[in-house]
Amino acid sequence: MTKTGKLAAYLQFPFCESKCSFCNFSSRVGRPSEFPGYVKALIREMSRLPDIYRRSGIPTDRLSLPVDTIYIGGGTPSLLGKDLMGQVVESLRERLLLSAVEEFTLELTPGSADESYLLSVRRLGVNRLSIGAQAFSDRELRAVGRLHSAQDTVAQVLMARQAGFNNLSLDLIAGLPLQTEASWRETLEAAVRGAPEHISIYLYELDENSRLGKEAIQGGSRYRAADLPTEEFSIWAYEFARERLATVGYAQYEISNFALSGFESRHNLKYWQLEPYLGFGAGAHSYDGARRWSNCADVETYARRLEDGESPISEICSLSTSRQVEEFFFLGLRRREGVELREANERWGEAQVKPWEATLNTLTAAGWLEWSGSRLRLAPRALLVSNEIFQQFIEV
Ligand code: SF4
Repeated sequence: MTKTGKLAAYLQFPFCESKCSFCNFSSRVGRPSEFPGYVKALIREMSRLPDIYRRSGIPTDRLSLPVDTIYIGGGTPSLLGKDLMGQVVESLRERLLLSAVEEFTLELTPGSADESYLLSVRRLGVNRLSIGAQAFSDRELRAVGRLHSAQDTVAQVLMARQAGFNNLSLDLIAGLPLQTEASWRETLEAAVRGAPEHISIYLYELDENSRLGKEAIQGGSRYRAADLPTEEFSIWAYEFARERLATVGYAQYEISNFALSGFESRHNLKYWQLEPYLGFGAGAHSYDGARRWSNCADVETYARRLEDGESPISEICSLSTSRQVEEFFFLGLRRREGVELREANERWGEAQVKPWEATLNTLTAAGWLEWSGSRLRLAPRALLVSNEIFQQFIEV
């Protein structure tokens, strides 16, 4: 089931130069000598795709859909040199139909890409850069182990413009250690001065899977855990960002994402609109409307399985109709435009959607959801507690 008849492709590069203390991704520090072997495994995966899918009972029909968005994320994929990046894109081109690609994003860390690198990835088709600025305070960047400075981000944005990129996104994090009202205001102002087309604001949340989160939960002070701002501060920072960005033309189109008109991330929108995507690389996830599957996250296991002619897929989950409706709500409601009940009824039938009506009505009556024309969406006060609200859909 796909609305657009188009496919998204995601490539995972799981290596970084150093590990940020707040990071809970499966990325790890990697040496450049490891990259050719990883690229070899990626190319093996792509070239053996129909066989890998058949072995796991995954239909191969999605492979013939035209791709309209590509995203190379990580980790820090800009660490891949020009030649290796070229090999990866070439292999993707051999496997999938890339003639209709509209958005091709590369994630990069400030300072990791010089002009010649940017020009070479542009020639490969990359037309959007997602830059991991995180903050424009050097104290905060150092505190979480980032290797770049605020000035590196400013220079990276300028260099990207000179290389001809007209679609840039900056990632910022609210709630980092040492962050203050003044430093957050300055981070936002510096981001706005850079005039990117898109800004993502992530709220730092404590969890056991990052060194910083674990330390803070245990009450320790390593990794500047004792310098984390309060929850009230994070709430203020998020609300302040929403207001400030709105006044300079960035419309919020998703809980964490803001864009100038026409520059919403098409690739990420697909995740929330239940459009199919295929992921390649260690730990990459895929979805075809009826099932979700993922590759093993351990780089060595991923590469060894491919070398031995085995499948890198470690998990596959068939989605019942009820699970598909559930995802329609909790993913669709992340978008500020919300969801249309009519669409759910048309896709799955009224009988399948009915069980969610009571939950929707309760949440609307409590002021967590609101109607906007024929669409149902999160009320502004629900944006910061969306996970708790979505939990209620999962429990229906
Ligand atoms: S650069 Fe990104 S992926 Fe790598 S450790 Fe830092 S936050 Fe995680």
